[in-house]
Amino acid sequence: MKKKIIILGSPGVGKGTYTRLLSKEFGLPHISTGDMFREHLKKKTELGKKAKKIVNEGGLVPDEIVSEMVKHRLAQEDCNNGWLLDGYPRNINQAETLQSFTKVDSVLRFVADKKVIIDRLSGRRVCKKCGATYHVRNVPPKSEGICDKCGGDIYQRKDDKPEFIKTRLKIYKKQTAPLISFYQKRDLITDVNVNSEYEKRYEVLEWIKEKFKD
Ligand code: ADP
Ligand code: ZN
Repeated sequence: MKKKIIILGSPGVGKGTYTRLLSKEFGLPHISTGDMFREHLKKKTELGKKAKKIVNEGGLVPDEIVSEMVKHRLAQEDCNNGWLLDGYPRNINQAETLQSFTKVDSVLRFVADKKVIIDRLSGRRVCKKCGATYHVRNVPPKSEGICDKCGGDIYQRKDDKPEFIKTRLKIYKKQTAPLISFYQKRDLITDVNVNSEYEKRYEVLEWIKEKFKD
Protein backbone atom coordinates (compact mmCIF):
# COMPACT_ATOMS: atom_id res chain seq x y z
CA MET A 1 0.00 0.00 0.00
CA LYS A 2 0.99 3.59 -0.57
CA LYS A 3 1.85 4.93 2.82
CA LYS A 4 3.38 8.35 2.60
CA ILE A 5 0.33 10.35 1.72
CA ILE A 6 -0.15 14.11 1.37
CA ILE A 7 -3.63 15.50 1.91
CA LEU A 8 -4.47 18.51 -0.27
CA GLY A 9 -7.54 20.69 -0.51
CA SER A 10 -8.96 24.10 0.31
CA PRO A 11 -9.42 25.23 3.91
CA GLY A 12 -12.87 24.08 4.98
CA VAL A 13 -13.14 21.26 2.48
CA GLY A 14 -13.25 18.64 5.24
CA LYS A 15 -9.65 17.42 5.09
CA GLY A 16 -9.35 17.21 8.84
CA THR A 17 -12.50 15.15 9.30
CA TYR A 18 -11.62 12.66 6.59
CA THR A 19 -7.98 12.43 7.52
CA ARG A 20 -8.91 11.51 11.11
CA LEU A 21 -11.08 8.69 9.78
CA LEU A 22 -8.39 7.54 7.35
CA SER A 23 -5.80 7.59 10.07
CA LYS A 24 -7.77 4.98 12.03
CA GLU A 25 -8.59 3.00 8.92
CA PHE A 26 -5.01 2.85 7.60
CA GLY A 27 -3.26 2.82 10.97
CA LEU A 28 -1.12 5.79 9.92
CA PRO A 29 -0.42 8.86 12.06
CA HIS A 30 -2.34 12.00 11.15
CA ILE A 31 0.14 14.85 11.02
CA SER A 32 -1.77 18.13 10.90
CA THR A 33 0.40 21.23 10.90
CA GLY A 34 -2.65 23.36 11.79
CA ASP A 35 -3.31 21.18 14.87
CA MET A 36 0.38 21.33 15.77
CA PHE A 37 0.35 25.13 15.66
CA ARG A 38 -2.86 25.33 17.68
CA GLU A 39 -1.22 23.08 20.30
CA HIS A 40 1.78 25.44 20.42
CA LEU A 41 -0.55 28.42 20.85
CA LYS A 42 -2.42 26.70 23.65
CA LYS A 43 0.78 25.76 25.46
CA LYS A 44 2.30 29.18 24.80
CA THR A 45 5.60 27.71 23.61
CA GLU A 46 8.27 29.86 21.93
CA LEU A 47 7.03 28.67 18.56
CA GLY A 48 3.47 29.40 19.65
CA LYS A 49 4.35 32.97 20.54
CA LYS A 50 6.04 33.50 17.18
CA ALA A 51 3.16 32.04 15.17
CA LYS A 52 0.18 33.30 17.16
CA LYS A 53 -0.83 36.37 15.21
CA ILE A 54 -0.24 34.75 11.83
CA VAL A 55 -2.22 31.62 12.68
CA ASN A 56 -5.11 33.53 14.22
CA GLU A 57 -5.41 35.75 11.19
CA GLY A 58 -5.13 33.00 8.59
CA GLY A 59 -1.72 33.96 7.16
CA LEU A 60 1.09 31.49 6.44
CA VAL A 61 3.79 30.84 9.01
CA PRO A 62 7.28 31.31 7.42
CA ASP A 63 8.40 28.25 5.46
CA GLU A 64 11.56 27.57 7.48
CA ILE A 65 9.62 27.35 10.72
CA VAL A 66 6.96 24.98 9.37
CA SER A 67 9.42 22.84 7.43
CA GLU A 68 11.64 22.41 10.47
CA MET A 69 8.66 21.39 12.56
CA VAL A 70 7.46 18.86 9.98
CA LYS A 71 10.90 17.40 9.37
CA HIS A 72 11.30 16.85 13.08
CA ARG A 73 7.84 15.26 13.39
CA LEU A 74 8.29 12.89 10.43
CA ALA A 75 11.57 11.66 11.92
CA GLN A 76 9.74 10.24 14.93
CA GLU A 77 9.28 6.53 15.24
CA ASP A 78 5.52 6.36 14.66
CA CYS A 79 6.16 7.78 11.18
CA ASN A 80 8.51 4.99 10.08
CA ASN A 81 5.69 3.13 8.43
CA GLY A 82 4.14 6.12 6.67
CA TRP A 83 1.90 9.09 7.43
CA LEU A 84 -1.00 11.27 6.39
CA LEU A 85 0.30 14.80 6.07
CA ASP A 86 -2.48 17.40 6.37
CA GLY A 87 -1.73 21.11 5.91
CA TYR A 88 1.80 20.74 4.55
CA PRO A 89 3.13 21.50 1.97
CA ARG A 90 1.20 24.71 1.34
CA ASN A 91 3.35 26.21 -1.39
CA ILE A 92 5.94 25.11 -3.95
CA ASN A 93 8.87 25.99 -1.73
CA GLN A 94 7.55 23.72 1.04
CA ALA A 95 6.88 20.95 -1.50
CA GLU A 96 10.48 21.12 -2.67
CA THR A 97 11.76 21.09 0.88
CA LEU A 98 9.65 18.03 1.63
CA GLN A 99 11.12 16.24 -1.43
CA SER A 100 14.57 16.94 -0.04
CA PHE A 101 13.98 14.90 3.11
CA THR A 102 11.42 12.24 2.23
CA LYS A 103 9.67 10.50 -0.60
CA VAL A 104 5.94 10.91 -1.25
CA ASP A 105 3.85 7.94 -2.41
CA SER A 106 0.57 9.61 -3.09
CA VAL A 107 -1.44 12.83 -2.90
CA LEU A 108 -5.10 12.75 -1.98
CA ARG A 109 -6.92 15.90 -3.04
CA PHE A 110 -10.30 16.75 -1.52
CA VAL A 111 -12.57 18.75 -3.79
CA ALA A 112 -15.86 20.56 -3.08
CA ASP A 113 -17.78 23.54 -4.45
CA LYS A 114 -16.94 26.99 -3.19
CA LYS A 115 -20.41 27.42 -1.70
CA VAL A 116 -20.00 24.23 0.33
CA ILE A 117 -16.51 25.26 1.47
CA ILE A 118 -17.59 28.67 2.73
CA ASP A 119 -20.54 27.17 4.58
CA ARG A 120 -18.29 24.55 6.21
CA LEU A 121 -15.75 27.16 7.28
CA SER A 122 -18.17 29.70 8.67
CA GLY A 123 -20.20 27.13 10.62
CA ARG A 124 -17.25 25.13 11.94
CA ARG A 125 -16.72 24.77 15.67
CA VAL A 126 -13.82 22.98 17.34
CA CYS A 127 -13.23 21.30 20.69
CA LYS A 128 -10.57 23.15 22.66
CA LYS A 129 -9.42 20.01 24.35
CA CYS A 130 -9.35 17.21 21.73
CA GLY A 131 -9.68 19.10 18.42
CA ALA A 132 -12.87 17.31 17.33
CA THR A 133 -14.79 19.39 14.79
CA TYR A 134 -18.49 20.23 14.66
CA HIS A 135 -20.75 22.38 12.53
CA VAL A 136 -23.50 24.62 13.89
CA ARG A 137 -26.12 23.14 11.54
CA ASN A 138 -24.70 20.03 9.89
CA VAL A 139 -22.91 18.41 12.82
CA PRO A 140 -23.97 20.03 16.09
CA PRO A 141 -22.78 18.53 19.38
CA LYS A 142 -25.43 16.77 21.48
CA SER A 143 -25.40 19.51 24.09
CA GLU A 144 -24.56 23.02 23.00
CA GLY A 145 -20.97 24.15 23.47
CA ILE A 146 -19.77 20.80 24.85
CA CYS A 147 -17.74 18.17 22.99
CA ASP A 148 -19.51 14.77 22.61
CA LYS A 149 -16.19 12.96 22.71
CA CYS A 150 -14.39 14.47 25.68
CA GLY A 151 -16.67 17.03 27.38
CA GLY A 152 -14.32 19.89 26.46
CA ASP A 153 -15.49 23.38 25.50
CA ILE A 154 -16.34 24.07 21.89
CA TYR A 155 -15.25 27.32 20.28
CA GLN A 156 -14.95 29.05 16.93
CA ARG A 157 -11.40 29.32 15.62
CA LYS A 158 -10.39 32.98 15.21
CA ASP A 159 -9.38 32.32 11.63
CA ASP A 160 -12.87 30.94 10.89
CA LYS A 161 -14.40 34.40 11.40
CA PRO A 162 -15.65 35.92 8.12
CA GLU A 163 -12.93 38.58 7.91
CA PHE A 164 -10.17 35.94 7.89
CA ILE A 165 -11.87 33.30 5.75
CA LYS A 166 -11.37 35.52 2.70
CA THR A 167 -7.62 35.83 3.35
CA ARG A 168 -7.24 32.07 3.68
CA LEU A 169 -9.10 31.28 0.48
CA LYS A 170 -7.05 33.89 -1.37
CA ILE A 171 -3.78 32.45 -0.07
CA TYR A 172 -4.96 28.98 -0.97
CA LYS A 173 -5.73 29.95 -4.53
CA LYS A 174 -2.47 31.78 -5.02
CA GLN A 175 0.01 29.59 -3.11
CA THR A 176 -1.44 26.15 -2.51
CA ALA A 177 -3.44 25.45 -5.66
CA PRO A 178 -0.23 25.50 -7.80
CA LEU A 179 0.80 22.36 -5.91
CA ILE A 180 -1.83 20.46 -7.83
CA SER A 181 0.13 20.70 -11.07
CA PHE A 182 3.37 20.10 -9.16
CA TYR A 183 2.05 16.69 -8.08
CA GLN A 184 0.10 16.03 -11.27
CA LYS A 185 3.38 16.20 -13.15
CA ARG A 186 4.65 13.48 -10.84
CA ASP A 187 1.47 11.49 -11.42
CA LEU A 188 0.64 11.25 -7.73
CA ILE A 189 -2.83 12.80 -7.40
CA THR A 190 -6.15 11.12 -6.63
CA ASP A 191 -9.19 13.44 -6.48
CA VAL A 192 -11.97 12.81 -3.99
CA ASN A 193 -15.28 14.62 -4.32
CA VAL A 194 -16.53 15.63 -0.87
CA ASN A 195 -19.59 17.73 -1.70
CA SER A 196 -21.83 15.17 -0.04
CA GLU A 197 -23.10 15.79 3.47
CA TYR A 198 -21.53 14.52 6.66
CA GLU A 199 -23.85 11.50 6.90
CA LYS A 200 -22.31 10.12 3.70
CA ARG A 201 -18.76 10.24 5.01
CA TYR A 202 -18.38 6.46 5.29
CA GLU A 203 -19.29 6.03 1.63
CA VAL A 204 -16.54 8.48 0.72
CA LEU A 205 -14.19 6.61 3.02
CA GLU A 206 -14.99 3.30 1.30
CA TRP A 207 -14.30 4.92 -2.05
CA ILE A 208 -10.88 6.07 -0.87
CA LYS A 209 -10.06 2.67 0.63
CA GLU A 210 -10.89 1.01 -2.67
CA LYS A 211 -8.48 3.39 -4.47
CA PHE A 212 -5.69 2.64 -2.03
CA LYS A 213 -6.13 -1.12 -1.93
CA ASP A 214 -3.02 -2.08 -3.86
P1 ADP B 1 -7.11 25.32 7.32
O1 ADP B 1 -8.39 24.95 7.99
O2 ADP B 1 -7.08 26.72 6.81
O3 ADP B 1 -6.63 24.30 6.35
P2 ADP B 1 -5.06 24.53 9.25
O4 ADP B 1 -5.73 24.05 10.46
O5 ADP B 1 -4.46 23.54 8.31
O6 ADP B 1 -6.08 25.48 8.49
O7 ADP B 1 -3.91 25.59 9.61
C1 ADP B 1 -4.19 26.69 10.43
C2 ADP B 1 -3.11 27.76 10.27
O8 ADP B 1 -1.82 27.21 10.65
C3 ADP B 1 -2.89 28.28 8.87
O9 ADP B 1 -3.83 29.26 8.49
C4 ADP B 1 -1.46 28.83 8.99
O10 ADP B 1 -1.43 30.05 9.68
C5 ADP B 1 -0.79 27.78 9.83
N1 ADP B 1 -0.19 26.73 8.99
C6 ADP B 1 -0.53 25.42 8.98
N2 ADP B 1 0.19 24.73 8.07
C7 ADP B 1 1.00 25.63 7.49
C8 ADP B 1 1.99 25.55 6.47
N3 ADP B 1 2.28 24.39 5.84
N4 ADP B 1 2.66 26.68 6.13
C9 ADP B 1 2.40 27.86 6.73
N5 ADP B 1 1.48 28.00 7.68
C10 ADP B 1 0.78 26.92 8.07
ZN1 ZN C 1 -13.29 17.10 22.67
